[in-house]
Amino acid sequence: MRMKREKRDKRNKRNKRTNRIVSTILVLAMIVSVSYVKPVSVQAAVALQEDPIVIVLDPGHGGADGGATRTWGGKVYKEKTLNLAIAQYCKKELETYAGVKVYLTRSYDTYVSLEGRVAYAKKKGANLFVSLHNNADLKTSRRGACVFYPNANYKKAISKSGKAVAASIQEQLVDLGLKNNGIAYRNSENGTRYPDKKLADYYNVIRGSKQKGFPGIIVEHAFVSNPTDCKTFLRSQAKLKKLGVADATGIAEYYGLKKANATTTLTGAEYQQDGSVLLTWTVAEGMDGYSVYRKKKNESTYQRLACIEGGESTGYVDTSLTEAGEYEYCVRAYIVGNGVGRYTAYSNTMPVYAVMAPEQFAQVILEDGTAKLTWTPVAGASGYIIARRNNPEESFVAVAELADGGTVEWIDLECTAGSTCEYQICAYIKSGEMIYTGDYVGVQNPVAEEAISQNSL
Ligand SMILES: [Zn+2]
Repeated sequence: MRMKREKRDKRNKRNKRTNRIVSTILVLAMIVSVSYVKPVSVQAAVALQEDPIVIVLDPGHGGADGGATRTWGGKVYKEKTLNLAIAQYCKKELETYAGVKVYLTRSYDTYVSLEGRVAYAKKKGANLFVSLHNNADLKTSRRGACVFYPNANYKKAISKSGKAVAASIQEQLVDLGLKNNGIAYRNSENGTRYPDKKLADYYNVIRGSKQKGFPGIIVEHAFVSNPTDCKTFLRSQAKLKKLGVADATGIAEYYGLKKANATTTLTGAEYQQDGSVLLTWTVAEGMDGYSVYRKKKNESTYQRLACIEGGESTGYVDTSLTEAGEYEYCVRAYIVGNGVGRYTAYSNTMPVYAVMAPEQFAQVILEDGTAKLTWTPVAGASGYIIARRNNPEESFVAVAELADGGTVEWIDLECTAGSTCEYQICAYIKSGEMIYTGDYVGVQNPVAEEAISQNSL
Protein backbone atom coordinates (compact mmCIF):
# COMPACT_ATOMS: atom_id res chain seq x y z
CA MET A 1 0.00 0.00 0.00
CA ARG A 2 3.00 2.31 0.16
CA MET A 3 2.61 3.30 -3.43
CA LYS A 4 -1.04 4.08 -2.98
CA ARG A 5 -0.38 6.13 0.06
CA GLU A 6 2.12 8.25 -1.80
CA LYS A 7 -0.37 8.71 -4.57
CA ARG A 8 -2.96 9.91 -2.14
CA ASP A 9 -0.59 12.33 -0.46
CA LYS A 10 0.39 13.79 -3.80
CA ARG A 11 -3.19 14.06 -4.82
CA ASN A 12 -4.11 15.77 -1.60
CA LYS A 13 -1.49 18.43 -2.11
CA ARG A 14 -2.73 19.11 -5.59
CA ASN A 15 -6.39 19.33 -4.72
CA LYS A 16 -7.09 19.79 -1.05
CA ARG A 17 -10.72 20.60 -1.47
CA THR A 18 -11.93 17.42 -3.08
CA ASN A 19 -9.62 14.84 -1.67
CA ARG A 20 -9.13 13.35 1.67
CA ILE A 21 -6.42 11.43 3.34
CA VAL A 22 -7.68 8.23 4.88
CA SER A 23 -6.66 9.00 8.45
CA THR A 24 -7.95 12.57 8.34
CA ILE A 25 -11.38 11.68 7.14
CA LEU A 26 -11.72 8.81 9.56
CA VAL A 27 -11.08 11.06 12.52
CA LEU A 28 -13.17 13.92 11.22
CA ALA A 29 -16.10 11.78 10.23
CA MET A 30 -16.54 10.68 13.79
CA ILE A 31 -16.41 14.04 15.51
CA VAL A 32 -17.70 16.57 13.00
CA SER A 33 -21.29 16.85 11.97
CA VAL A 34 -21.32 19.06 8.87
CA SER A 35 -24.27 21.39 8.49
CA TYR A 36 -25.06 24.01 5.90
CA VAL A 37 -28.06 25.90 4.65
CA LYS A 38 -29.62 24.40 1.54
CA PRO A 39 -30.59 27.15 -0.91
CA VAL A 40 -34.13 27.02 -2.20
CA SER A 41 -34.57 25.90 -5.79
CA VAL A 42 -37.75 26.06 -7.82
CA GLN A 43 -38.74 25.60 -11.41
CA ALA A 44 -39.17 28.90 -13.21
CA ALA A 45 -42.61 29.95 -14.38
CA VAL A 46 -41.12 31.79 -17.36
CA ALA A 47 -40.25 30.17 -20.65
CA LEU A 48 -36.49 29.86 -20.89
CA GLN A 49 -34.89 30.15 -24.29
CA GLU A 50 -31.90 27.80 -24.12
CA ASP A 51 -30.55 28.69 -27.58
CA PRO A 52 -29.85 32.29 -28.50
CA ILE A 53 -31.66 34.12 -31.29
CA VAL A 54 -29.35 34.12 -34.29
CA ILE A 55 -29.19 37.38 -36.21
CA VAL A 56 -27.18 37.45 -39.42
CA LEU A 57 -26.24 40.96 -40.49
CA ASP A 58 -25.35 41.39 -44.11
CA PRO A 59 -23.29 44.47 -45.00
CA GLY A 60 -24.29 45.05 -48.62
CA HIS A 61 -21.76 44.97 -51.48
CA GLY A 62 -17.99 44.61 -50.89
CA GLY A 63 -14.79 44.01 -52.80
CA ALA A 64 -15.11 44.87 -56.48
CA ASP A 65 -18.77 45.71 -55.87
CA GLY A 66 -18.58 49.14 -54.21
CA GLY A 67 -22.31 49.83 -54.31
CA ALA A 68 -23.58 53.37 -54.74
CA THR A 69 -20.80 55.93 -54.51
CA ARG A 70 -20.98 59.74 -54.42
CA THR A 71 -18.67 62.57 -53.43
CA TRP A 72 -19.98 65.52 -51.45
CA GLY A 73 -17.83 68.35 -50.06
CA GLY A 74 -14.68 66.50 -51.04
CA LYS A 75 -15.69 63.39 -49.06
CA VAL A 76 -16.35 60.08 -50.78
CA TYR A 77 -19.43 58.15 -49.63
CA LYS A 78 -19.02 54.55 -50.72
CA GLU A 79 -21.84 52.20 -49.87
CA LYS A 80 -19.77 49.07 -49.21
CA THR A 81 -17.70 50.93 -46.59
CA LEU A 82 -20.67 52.65 -44.96
CA ASN A 83 -22.68 49.41 -44.85
CA LEU A 84 -19.85 47.48 -43.19
CA ALA A 85 -19.34 50.16 -40.53
CA ILE A 86 -23.06 50.28 -39.72
CA ALA A 87 -23.20 46.47 -39.52
CA GLN A 88 -20.23 46.32 -37.15
CA TYR A 89 -21.78 48.92 -34.84
CA CYS A 90 -25.08 47.07 -35.01
CA LYS A 91 -23.41 43.79 -34.08
CA LYS A 92 -21.61 45.33 -31.14
CA GLU A 93 -24.81 46.89 -29.85
CA LEU A 94 -26.88 43.71 -30.30
CA GLU A 95 -24.30 41.78 -28.32
CA THR A 96 -25.06 43.88 -25.24
CA TYR A 97 -28.42 42.09 -25.07
CA ALA A 98 -28.98 38.69 -23.46
CA GLY A 99 -29.77 35.65 -25.57
CA VAL A 100 -28.61 36.82 -28.99
CA LYS A 101 -25.87 35.59 -31.32
CA VAL A 102 -24.79 37.82 -34.19
CA TYR A 103 -22.92 36.95 -37.37
CA LEU A 104 -21.77 39.12 -40.25
CA THR A 105 -21.81 37.80 -43.81
CA ARG A 106 -18.59 39.74 -44.32
CA SER A 107 -16.27 41.48 -41.85
CA TYR A 108 -13.88 42.88 -44.45
CA ASP A 109 -13.97 44.58 -47.82
CA THR A 110 -14.60 41.32 -49.65
CA TYR A 111 -17.02 40.23 -52.33
CA VAL A 112 -19.69 37.72 -51.31
CA SER A 113 -22.40 36.60 -53.73
CA LEU A 114 -26.05 37.17 -52.80
CA GLU A 115 -26.63 33.40 -52.72
CA GLY A 116 -23.52 32.98 -50.60
CA ARG A 117 -24.81 35.48 -48.04
CA VAL A 118 -28.11 33.66 -47.58
CA ALA A 119 -26.43 30.25 -47.55
CA TYR A 120 -24.10 31.50 -44.81
CA ALA A 121 -27.11 32.67 -42.78
CA LYS A 122 -28.75 29.27 -43.18
CA LYS A 123 -25.56 27.54 -42.07
CA LYS A 124 -25.46 29.69 -38.94
CA GLY A 125 -29.07 28.85 -38.09
CA ALA A 126 -30.37 32.37 -38.69
CA ASN A 127 -33.63 33.46 -37.17
CA LEU A 128 -33.39 36.75 -39.04
CA PHE A 129 -31.33 38.04 -41.96
CA VAL A 130 -30.81 41.79 -42.14
CA SER A 131 -29.14 43.25 -45.20
CA LEU A 132 -27.71 46.71 -44.57
CA HIS A 133 -27.58 49.18 -47.44
CA ASN A 134 -27.75 52.81 -48.40
CA ASN A 135 -29.86 54.14 -51.18
CA ALA A 136 -29.09 56.18 -54.31
CA ASP A 137 -31.15 57.91 -56.96
CA LEU A 138 -30.54 60.07 -60.00
CA LYS A 139 -32.61 62.76 -58.31
CA THR A 140 -30.36 64.17 -55.60
CA SER A 141 -33.37 65.48 -53.71
CA ARG A 142 -34.54 62.00 -52.70
CA ARG A 143 -33.62 61.25 -49.11
CA GLY A 144 -34.63 59.22 -46.09
CA ALA A 145 -34.92 55.62 -44.86
CA CYS A 146 -37.02 52.64 -45.86
CA VAL A 147 -36.99 48.92 -45.05
CA PHE A 148 -38.01 46.13 -47.43
CA TYR A 149 -39.70 43.01 -46.00
CA PRO A 150 -40.97 39.75 -47.58
CA ASN A 151 -44.31 39.76 -49.42
CA ALA A 152 -47.21 37.70 -48.06
CA ASN A 153 -46.81 34.89 -50.61
CA TYR A 154 -45.59 31.33 -50.00
CA LYS A 155 -44.73 31.53 -46.27
CA LYS A 156 -47.09 33.88 -44.50
CA ALA A 157 -45.53 33.66 -41.05
CA ILE A 158 -42.16 34.75 -42.44
CA SER A 159 -43.76 37.72 -44.13
CA LYS A 160 -45.52 38.68 -40.91
CA SER A 161 -42.43 38.58 -38.71
CA GLY A 162 -40.30 40.24 -41.40
CA LYS A 163 -42.80 43.06 -41.68
CA ALA A 164 -42.92 43.54 -37.92
CA VAL A 165 -39.14 43.73 -37.49
CA ALA A 166 -38.92 46.05 -40.52
CA ALA A 167 -41.42 48.40 -38.89
CA SER A 168 -39.50 48.25 -35.61
CA ILE A 169 -36.21 49.23 -37.30
CA GLN A 170 -37.85 51.92 -39.42
CA GLU A 171 -39.29 53.51 -36.29
CA GLN A 172 -35.80 53.79 -34.77
CA LEU A 173 -34.31 55.29 -37.96
CA VAL A 174 -37.09 57.85 -38.20
CA ASP A 175 -36.46 58.74 -34.56
CA LEU A 176 -32.93 59.72 -35.58
CA GLY A 177 -34.44 62.30 -37.92
CA LEU A 178 -34.33 60.40 -41.21
CA LYS A 179 -37.23 61.08 -43.58
CA ASN A 180 -39.80 58.30 -43.28
CA ASN A 181 -40.16 56.57 -46.62
CA GLY A 182 -42.02 53.73 -44.94
CA ILE A 183 -41.62 49.97 -45.12
CA ALA A 184 -42.44 48.07 -48.29
CA TYR A 185 -42.31 44.74 -50.10
CA ARG A 186 -41.45 44.36 -53.76
CA ASN A 187 -42.71 41.56 -55.98
CA SER A 188 -40.76 39.90 -58.76
CA GLU A 189 -40.90 41.90 -61.94
CA ASN A 190 -39.96 39.03 -64.27
CA GLY A 191 -42.62 36.55 -63.17
CA THR A 192 -40.46 34.46 -60.81
CA ARG A 193 -42.72 32.37 -58.61
CA TYR A 194 -42.53 30.43 -55.37
CA PRO A 195 -43.30 26.67 -55.28
CA ASP A 196 -46.92 27.52 -54.47
CA LYS A 197 -47.09 29.38 -57.84
CA LYS A 198 -47.43 32.76 -56.16
CA LEU A 199 -45.28 35.70 -57.18
CA ALA A 200 -41.84 35.64 -55.57
CA ASP A 201 -40.11 38.51 -53.82
CA TYR A 202 -38.05 40.77 -56.07
CA TYR A 203 -34.90 40.94 -53.98
CA ASN A 204 -32.63 37.91 -54.12
CA VAL A 205 -31.76 37.89 -50.39
CA ILE A 206 -35.38 38.32 -49.27
CA ARG A 207 -36.52 35.56 -51.63
CA GLY A 208 -33.64 33.25 -50.70
CA SER A 209 -34.16 33.75 -46.97
CA LYS A 210 -37.84 32.93 -47.25
CA GLN A 211 -37.03 29.77 -49.21
CA LYS A 212 -34.53 28.74 -46.53
CA GLY A 213 -37.03 29.37 -43.75
CA PHE A 214 -36.29 32.73 -42.10
CA PRO A 215 -37.28 36.35 -42.75
CA GLY A 216 -34.86 38.48 -44.72
CA ILE A 217 -35.15 42.26 -44.80
CA ILE A 218 -33.20 45.06 -46.46
CA VAL A 219 -32.56 48.30 -44.60
CA GLU A 220 -31.92 51.32 -46.83
CA HIS A 221 -30.62 53.72 -44.23
CA ALA A 222 -30.12 56.97 -46.16
CA PHE A 223 -29.36 58.26 -49.66
CA VAL A 224 -25.69 58.61 -50.60
CA SER A 225 -27.06 60.64 -53.55
CA ASN A 226 -28.48 63.25 -51.20
CA PRO A 227 -25.93 65.69 -49.73
CA THR A 228 -28.07 66.42 -46.66
CA ASP A 229 -28.48 62.74 -45.77
CA CYS A 230 -24.73 62.28 -46.19
CA LYS A 231 -23.87 65.26 -44.04
CA THR A 232 -26.43 64.50 -41.34
CA PHE A 233 -26.28 60.70 -41.10
CA LEU A 234 -23.24 59.27 -42.87
CA ARG A 235 -20.36 61.71 -42.47
CA SER A 236 -18.61 60.34 -39.36
CA GLN A 237 -18.13 57.10 -37.45
CA ALA A 238 -20.27 58.57 -34.65
CA LYS A 239 -23.13 59.07 -37.12
CA LEU A 240 -22.76 55.59 -38.59
CA LYS A 241 -22.77 54.19 -35.08
CA LYS A 242 -26.12 55.86 -34.44
CA LEU A 243 -27.54 54.06 -37.47
CA GLY A 244 -26.12 50.71 -36.30
CA VAL A 245 -27.48 51.22 -32.80
CA ALA A 246 -30.88 52.17 -34.23
CA ASP A 247 -30.99 48.94 -36.25
CA ALA A 248 -29.99 46.93 -33.17
CA THR A 249 -32.58 48.66 -30.99
CA GLY A 250 -35.29 47.95 -33.56
CA ILE A 251 -34.33 44.27 -33.69
CA ALA A 252 -34.09 44.01 -29.89
CA GLU A 253 -37.49 45.64 -29.40
CA TYR A 254 -39.10 43.30 -31.88
CA TYR A 255 -37.83 40.25 -29.94
CA GLY A 256 -38.27 41.83 -26.52
CA LEU A 257 -34.58 41.46 -25.75
CA LYS A 258 -33.14 42.99 -22.60
CA LYS A 259 -29.69 44.39 -22.01
CA ALA A 260 -27.54 42.07 -19.97
CA ASN A 261 -23.96 42.90 -19.37
CA ALA A 262 -23.77 41.15 -16.01
CA THR A 263 -22.62 37.55 -15.90
CA THR A 264 -22.09 35.22 -12.98
CA THR A 265 -19.09 33.31 -11.70
CA LEU A 266 -19.38 29.82 -10.27
CA THR A 267 -17.50 30.06 -6.96
CA GLY A 268 -18.06 26.61 -5.50
CA ALA A 269 -19.03 23.08 -6.48
CA GLU A 270 -18.70 20.92 -3.36
CA TYR A 271 -19.46 17.25 -3.17
CA GLN A 272 -21.22 16.63 0.15
CA GLN A 273 -21.19 13.64 2.46
CA ASP A 274 -24.83 12.93 1.65
CA GLY A 275 -24.01 12.54 -2.05
CA SER A 276 -25.35 15.93 -3.09
CA VAL A 277 -23.39 18.78 -4.66
CA LEU A 278 -23.55 22.27 -3.22
CA LEU A 279 -23.13 24.95 -5.88
CA THR A 280 -22.53 28.62 -5.18
CA TRP A 281 -22.11 31.58 -7.53
CA THR A 282 -21.91 35.35 -7.55
CA VAL A 283 -24.88 37.65 -8.11
CA ALA A 284 -25.27 38.93 -11.68
CA GLU A 285 -26.71 42.41 -11.13
CA GLY A 286 -30.08 43.09 -12.69
CA MET A 287 -30.73 39.49 -13.77
CA ASP A 288 -33.93 37.58 -13.02
CA GLY A 289 -32.54 34.14 -12.21
CA TYR A 290 -30.06 31.39 -13.03
CA SER A 291 -29.95 28.00 -14.66
CA VAL A 292 -27.59 25.30 -13.46
CA TYR A 293 -25.93 22.82 -15.81
CA ARG A 294 -24.06 19.57 -15.39
CA LYS A 295 -22.32 17.06 -17.59
CA LYS A 296 -20.11 14.07 -17.14
CA LYS A 297 -16.56 15.04 -17.93
CA ASN A 298 -16.37 13.02 -21.12
CA GLU A 299 -19.76 14.19 -22.41
CA SER A 300 -19.86 17.05 -24.89
CA THR A 301 -23.07 18.82 -23.92
CA TYR A 302 -24.39 20.20 -20.67
CA GLN A 303 -27.83 19.30 -19.37
CA ARG A 304 -29.86 21.91 -17.53
CA LEU A 305 -30.50 20.63 -14.02
CA ALA A 306 -32.61 23.40 -12.64
CA CYS A 307 -33.68 26.96 -12.94
CA ILE A 308 -33.48 29.15 -9.87
CA GLU A 309 -35.72 32.20 -9.91
CA GLY A 310 -34.53 35.45 -8.40
CA GLY A 311 -31.50 37.49 -9.37
CA GLU A 312 -30.24 37.46 -5.78
CA SER A 313 -30.12 33.65 -5.57
CA THR A 314 -26.58 32.37 -5.22
CA GLY A 315 -26.82 28.65 -4.64
CA TYR A 316 -28.31 25.29 -5.47
CA VAL A 317 -28.01 21.75 -4.15
CA ASP A 318 -27.91 19.03 -6.78
CA THR A 319 -29.37 15.90 -5.21
CA SER A 320 -29.81 14.03 -8.48
CA LEU A 321 -26.43 12.30 -8.81
CA THR A 322 -26.82 8.53 -8.92
CA GLU A 323 -23.44 7.44 -10.26
CA ALA A 324 -19.91 8.00 -9.11
CA GLY A 325 -17.76 9.86 -11.58
CA GLU A 326 -16.13 13.09 -12.64
CA TYR A 327 -18.66 15.81 -13.38
CA GLU A 328 -18.51 19.42 -14.48
CA TYR A 329 -20.91 22.17 -13.47
CA CYS A 330 -21.59 25.65 -14.73
CA VAL A 331 -24.31 28.27 -14.38
CA ARG A 332 -25.64 31.21 -16.34
CA ALA A 333 -27.94 34.09 -15.55
CA TYR A 334 -31.11 34.95 -17.43
CA ILE A 335 -33.27 38.02 -17.80
CA VAL A 336 -36.93 38.04 -18.77
CA GLY A 337 -38.36 40.10 -21.62
CA ASN A 338 -41.77 39.53 -23.24
CA GLY A 339 -42.23 36.55 -20.92
CA VAL A 340 -39.12 34.80 -22.23
CA GLY A 341 -35.98 34.28 -20.17
CA ARG A 342 -32.80 34.81 -22.19
CA TYR A 343 -29.31 33.99 -21.07
CA THR A 344 -26.05 35.80 -20.66
CA ALA A 345 -22.80 33.88 -21.17
CA TYR A 346 -22.04 30.61 -19.37
CA SER A 347 -19.94 30.93 -16.23
CA ASN A 348 -16.61 29.19 -15.68
CA THR A 349 -16.91 25.46 -15.09
CA MET A 350 -15.95 23.55 -11.93
CA PRO A 351 -15.21 19.85 -11.59
CA VAL A 352 -16.78 17.59 -9.00
CA TYR A 353 -15.48 14.13 -8.13
CA ALA A 354 -18.54 12.33 -6.89
CA VAL A 355 -17.96 9.08 -5.03
CA MET A 356 -20.83 7.58 -3.06
CA ALA A 357 -20.24 5.39 -0.02
CA PRO A 358 -20.93 1.66 -0.42
CA GLU A 359 -24.15 0.53 1.26
CA GLN A 360 -24.99 -2.61 3.25
CA PHE A 361 -21.38 -3.07 4.29
CA ALA A 362 -21.51 -6.22 6.42
CA GLN A 363 -19.16 -8.68 8.06
CA VAL A 364 -19.49 -12.41 8.56
CA ILE A 365 -17.07 -14.84 10.17
CA LEU A 366 -16.27 -17.85 8.09
CA GLU A 367 -15.68 -21.31 9.53
CA ASP A 368 -11.93 -20.90 9.40
CA GLY A 369 -12.27 -17.76 11.50
CA THR A 370 -11.45 -15.28 8.75
CA ALA A 371 -13.65 -12.23 8.21
CA LYS A 372 -15.66 -11.88 5.04
CA LEU A 373 -16.86 -8.43 4.09
CA THR A 374 -19.73 -7.78 1.69
CA TRP A 375 -21.31 -4.59 0.33
CA THR A 376 -23.50 -3.18 -2.37
CA PRO A 377 -21.37 -1.90 -5.25
CA VAL A 378 -21.28 1.81 -6.06
CA ALA A 379 -22.35 2.55 -9.65
CA GLY A 380 -19.55 4.23 -11.58
CA ALA A 381 -16.86 3.44 -8.99
CA SER A 382 -13.38 2.34 -10.12
CA GLY A 383 -12.73 0.33 -6.98
CA TYR A 384 -12.68 0.19 -3.19
CA ILE A 385 -10.25 0.69 -0.36
CA ILE A 386 -10.71 -1.30 2.83
CA ALA A 387 -9.21 -0.10 6.09
CA ARG A 388 -8.85 -2.04 9.32
CA ARG A 389 -7.84 -1.56 12.92
CA ASN A 390 -7.20 -4.24 15.47
CA ASN A 391 -7.94 -2.15 18.51
CA PRO A 392 -10.21 0.86 19.17
CA GLU A 393 -7.24 2.96 20.31
CA GLU A 394 -5.60 2.77 16.90
CA SER A 395 -6.27 4.56 13.66
CA PHE A 396 -7.63 2.71 10.69
CA VAL A 397 -5.03 1.63 8.16
CA ALA A 398 -5.75 0.78 4.55
CA VAL A 399 -5.24 -2.95 4.04
CA ALA A 400 -6.63 -3.59 0.57
CA GLU A 401 -7.28 -1.85 -2.69
CA LEU A 402 -9.74 -3.61 -4.96
CA ALA A 403 -9.39 -2.13 -8.44
CA ASP A 404 -12.79 -3.18 -9.74
CA GLY A 405 -15.95 -1.18 -9.16
CA GLY A 406 -18.05 -4.34 -9.46
CA THR A 407 -16.37 -6.04 -6.48
CA VAL A 408 -18.88 -6.98 -3.77
CA GLU A 409 -16.85 -8.97 -1.23
CA TRP A 410 -13.42 -9.41 0.30
CA ILE A 411 -12.00 -11.93 2.75
CA ASP A 412 -9.47 -10.74 5.30
CA LEU A 413 -6.99 -13.59 5.72
CA GLU A 414 -5.08 -11.63 8.34
CA CYS A 415 -7.98 -11.40 10.78
CA THR A 416 -8.07 -14.69 12.52
CA ALA A 417 -9.23 -16.17 15.78
CA GLY A 418 -8.44 -14.06 18.78
CA SER A 419 -8.09 -10.81 16.81
CA THR A 420 -10.42 -7.85 17.07
CA CYS A 421 -10.91 -6.54 13.58
CA GLU A 422 -12.92 -3.46 12.78
CA TYR A 423 -13.43 -2.40 9.15
CA GLN A 424 -14.25 0.58 7.05
CA ILE A 425 -14.67 0.86 3.30
CA CYS A 426 -14.70 3.61 0.72
CA ALA A 427 -15.23 3.62 -3.01
CA TYR A 428 -12.94 5.55 -5.35
CA ILE A 429 -12.84 6.77 -8.92
CA LYS A 430 -9.79 7.10 -11.14
CA SER A 431 -9.31 10.10 -13.35
CA GLY A 432 -6.07 9.87 -15.30
CA GLU A 433 -3.34 9.29 -12.73
CA MET A 434 -5.47 10.59 -9.90
CA ILE A 435 -7.58 8.66 -7.44
CA TYR A 436 -10.51 10.33 -5.73
CA THR A 437 -11.88 8.60 -2.68
CA GLY A 438 -15.35 8.89 -1.20
CA ASP A 439 -16.32 8.78 2.45
CA TYR A 440 -15.43 5.77 4.54
CA VAL A 441 -18.28 3.89 6.16
CA GLY A 442 -17.95 1.43 9.01
CA VAL A 443 -19.20 -2.12 8.95
CA GLN A 444 -22.88 -2.23 9.84
CA ASN A 445 -22.86 -5.40 11.93
CA PRO A 446 -19.49 -5.46 13.67
CA VAL A 447 -18.63 -8.84 15.07
CA ALA A 448 -17.29 -8.66 18.59
CA GLU A 449 -14.01 -10.25 19.61
CA GLU A 450 -15.85 -12.83 21.70
CA ALA A 451 -17.96 -13.87 18.76
CA ILE A 452 -14.89 -14.28 16.62
CA SER A 453 -13.20 -16.36 19.28
CA GLN A 454 -16.22 -18.56 19.86
CA ASN A 455 -16.85 -18.99 16.20
CA SER A 456 -13.33 -20.10 15.57
CA LEU A 457 -13.28 -22.62 18.37
ZN1 LIG B 1 -26.83 48.62 -51.81
